[in-house]
Amino acid sequence: MTGRKQLTLIDDDKMDAMGIAAFASLKSEGKLSQDKALNAYVGCVAAAIVKVIPKENGPDDGRWEVLVFDDPTPNAFALPGGKIGVHVGMLDVAETPGQLAAVLGHEVSHVLLRHGNERMSQSILADTAMSTASVAAGAAAPEYQDLIVGGLGVGAQFGVLLPFSRKHESEADEVGQIFMARAGYYPAEAITLWQAMARVGGPGPAQWQSTHPSDETRIQRLRANLPKAMKEYERARAAGKNPKCKRPPDEWINPEALP
Ligand SMILES: [Zn+2]
Repeated sequence: MTGRKQLTLIDDDKMDAMGIAAFASLKSEGKLSQDKALNAYVGCVAAAIVKVIPKENGPDDGRWEVLVFDDPTPNAFALPGGKIGVHVGMLDVAETPGQLAAVLGHEVSHVLLRHGNERMSQSILADTAMSTASVAAGAAAPEYQDLIVGGLGVGAQFGVLLPFSRKHESEADEVGQIFMARAGYYPAEAITLWQAMARVGGPGPAQWQSTHPSDETRIQRLRANLPKAMKEYERARAAGKNPKCKRPPDEWINPEALP
C-alpha cells in the first residue's frame, strides 16, 4: 500500500487472533458505555470508514466490531481482526463526525498497513531471548503478553495517545485522510482534529516526543496531502456518499477534560 518494504514475521491469521484476544480482555476489564445514542453515533461513523477500506486485514465476515469505552482519556485504537475501540473522552476532542472519521481512518490505517506486525517483529529481533521460531510457535503465550500489548498498541495508554513511530504515524495520517475522504468526510477536518489533539497535550508523554511527529510536522503533512484527499472527497460526494451520523447531545462531556 505504501510501496515500502516491511519486516513482518507474524502470520496475518496470528495477528488477527492476537487482536481479537486483546480486545476481549479489554472488553472484560474496561467499562463499556451503555449510552445507546453515543454507541449508535460512533458505530455510524466507523461503518462509513470501514466500508471504503480494502477487505484485507479486516475480519473474516467483513464486519468490524466497534465499542465505546466509558473512559475520559481522549483515545481510540484499532486492532487486527477487525476491532475498534473509542473512549468517550475522544469525543471531547473530536467534536464533529468528520473529526471522528479522521481518528478512525488513522487508527484503521495502522491495522491495514500492518504496523503492529512490523513493531512486534522489530521487538522480536531486538529480544535475543525470543527466537522467531518461538513466536511462530506460540505468540499468544502468557510470557509474550507485554510484547503483544506493546506491539499491537492495546490498552488505555496506546492508540491515539501513545502513537507508533514517526514513519508509521505519517503513513497512517496520509492513508487515513484518504479513507475519510472516500467515505464522504471533508478531509480538512483531519487538520482540525490534530490541532485539537495538540491543544489537549497529545499525542504522547514527553519521552515519546523525539520519536513521533511534532504537531506542526503532522499538520504540514496533512495539508500537503489535502489536494489528493480532496479529489477523493469530490469523487465520493459525486457518487452520493454523504454519511449522516448524528452526534448526540454532549451529556457525557467531562468539563475538566476540555482544552
Ligand atoms: Zn497513530
